[in-house]
Amino acid sequence: MLNEVADGVWVRQSVWVWSNAVVVRGEGGLILVDPGIDGSDLDQLADDVDRLGLPVVAGFSTHLHWDHLLWHARFGDVPRYAMPAAASAAPGFRERAQAMAAESAPGVPLEFIGLLTPLPADGGPVPGEIVEHEAHAIGHAAVLLADRGVLLAGDMLSDVLIPLLDPRRPGQVDAYEMALDRLGEAARHVDVVVPGHGAVGEGPEVAARLAADRAYIDALRRGEEPVDARLDQDWLAGPHQSNLEQARQASG
Ligand SMILES: [Zn+2]
Repeated sequence: MLNEVADGVWVRQSVWVWSNAVVVRGEGGLILVDPGIDGSDLDQLADDVDRLGLPVVAGFSTHLHWDHLLWHARFGDVPRYAMPAAASAAPGFRERAQAMAAESAPGVPLEFIGLLTPLPADGGPVPGEIVEHEAHAIGHAAVLLADRGVLLAGDMLSDVLIPLLDPRRPGQVDAYEMALDRLGEAARHVDVVVPGHGAVGEGPEVAARLAADRAYIDALRRGEEPVDARLDQDWLAGPHQSNLEQARQASG
């Protein structure tokens, strides 16, 4: 079921890790942001999209992790955009992403995973403003829809998952701080934040999400184990421990 969180912005949540697929009404039709997760989710999303009565004109992947690289034939053969850094790295990541999807998302069409096109500098059909940063994954992008007061945050600002540093790249504590600064700036224009996983945050919750992630990263910066009730995410191999190791390596 689609939940309209702002004018022309709908969210459908999957059971798997509270993943949010987002449908955005743009000028020429609908843009699907991170549609997921398993085959029946994608089928139901396609039914929901049909009911909106507008064509799907594009997809957008916020970043290069398998659960954000999915697609279904019923969405059509349209460009699926990502930041150029993510799109150019995607071919090397596809096989692994397909294997991970096959394991976790029954019925997902594997042939469509990770077929990405670099987002043109003017954003093409994707409305709003892109907030790109280097935290969590290569070419991670949030989408700021300032005119509708919504920030689509990708895998940042979740109420259920801790911040996850990219275990493959050094300098992630710095990258995360910079990303939170950029998202904090963007969040001044919104009263709704849609994370990739977890509940949609509204009103004061937007600032609370930023504060929780900042507190987590500050603890890593001090070399301390963060006190945080959110979940470690062992399916991405990124629990507190590996975050902490990376922070300590960076400062040592
Ligand atoms: Zn994710």
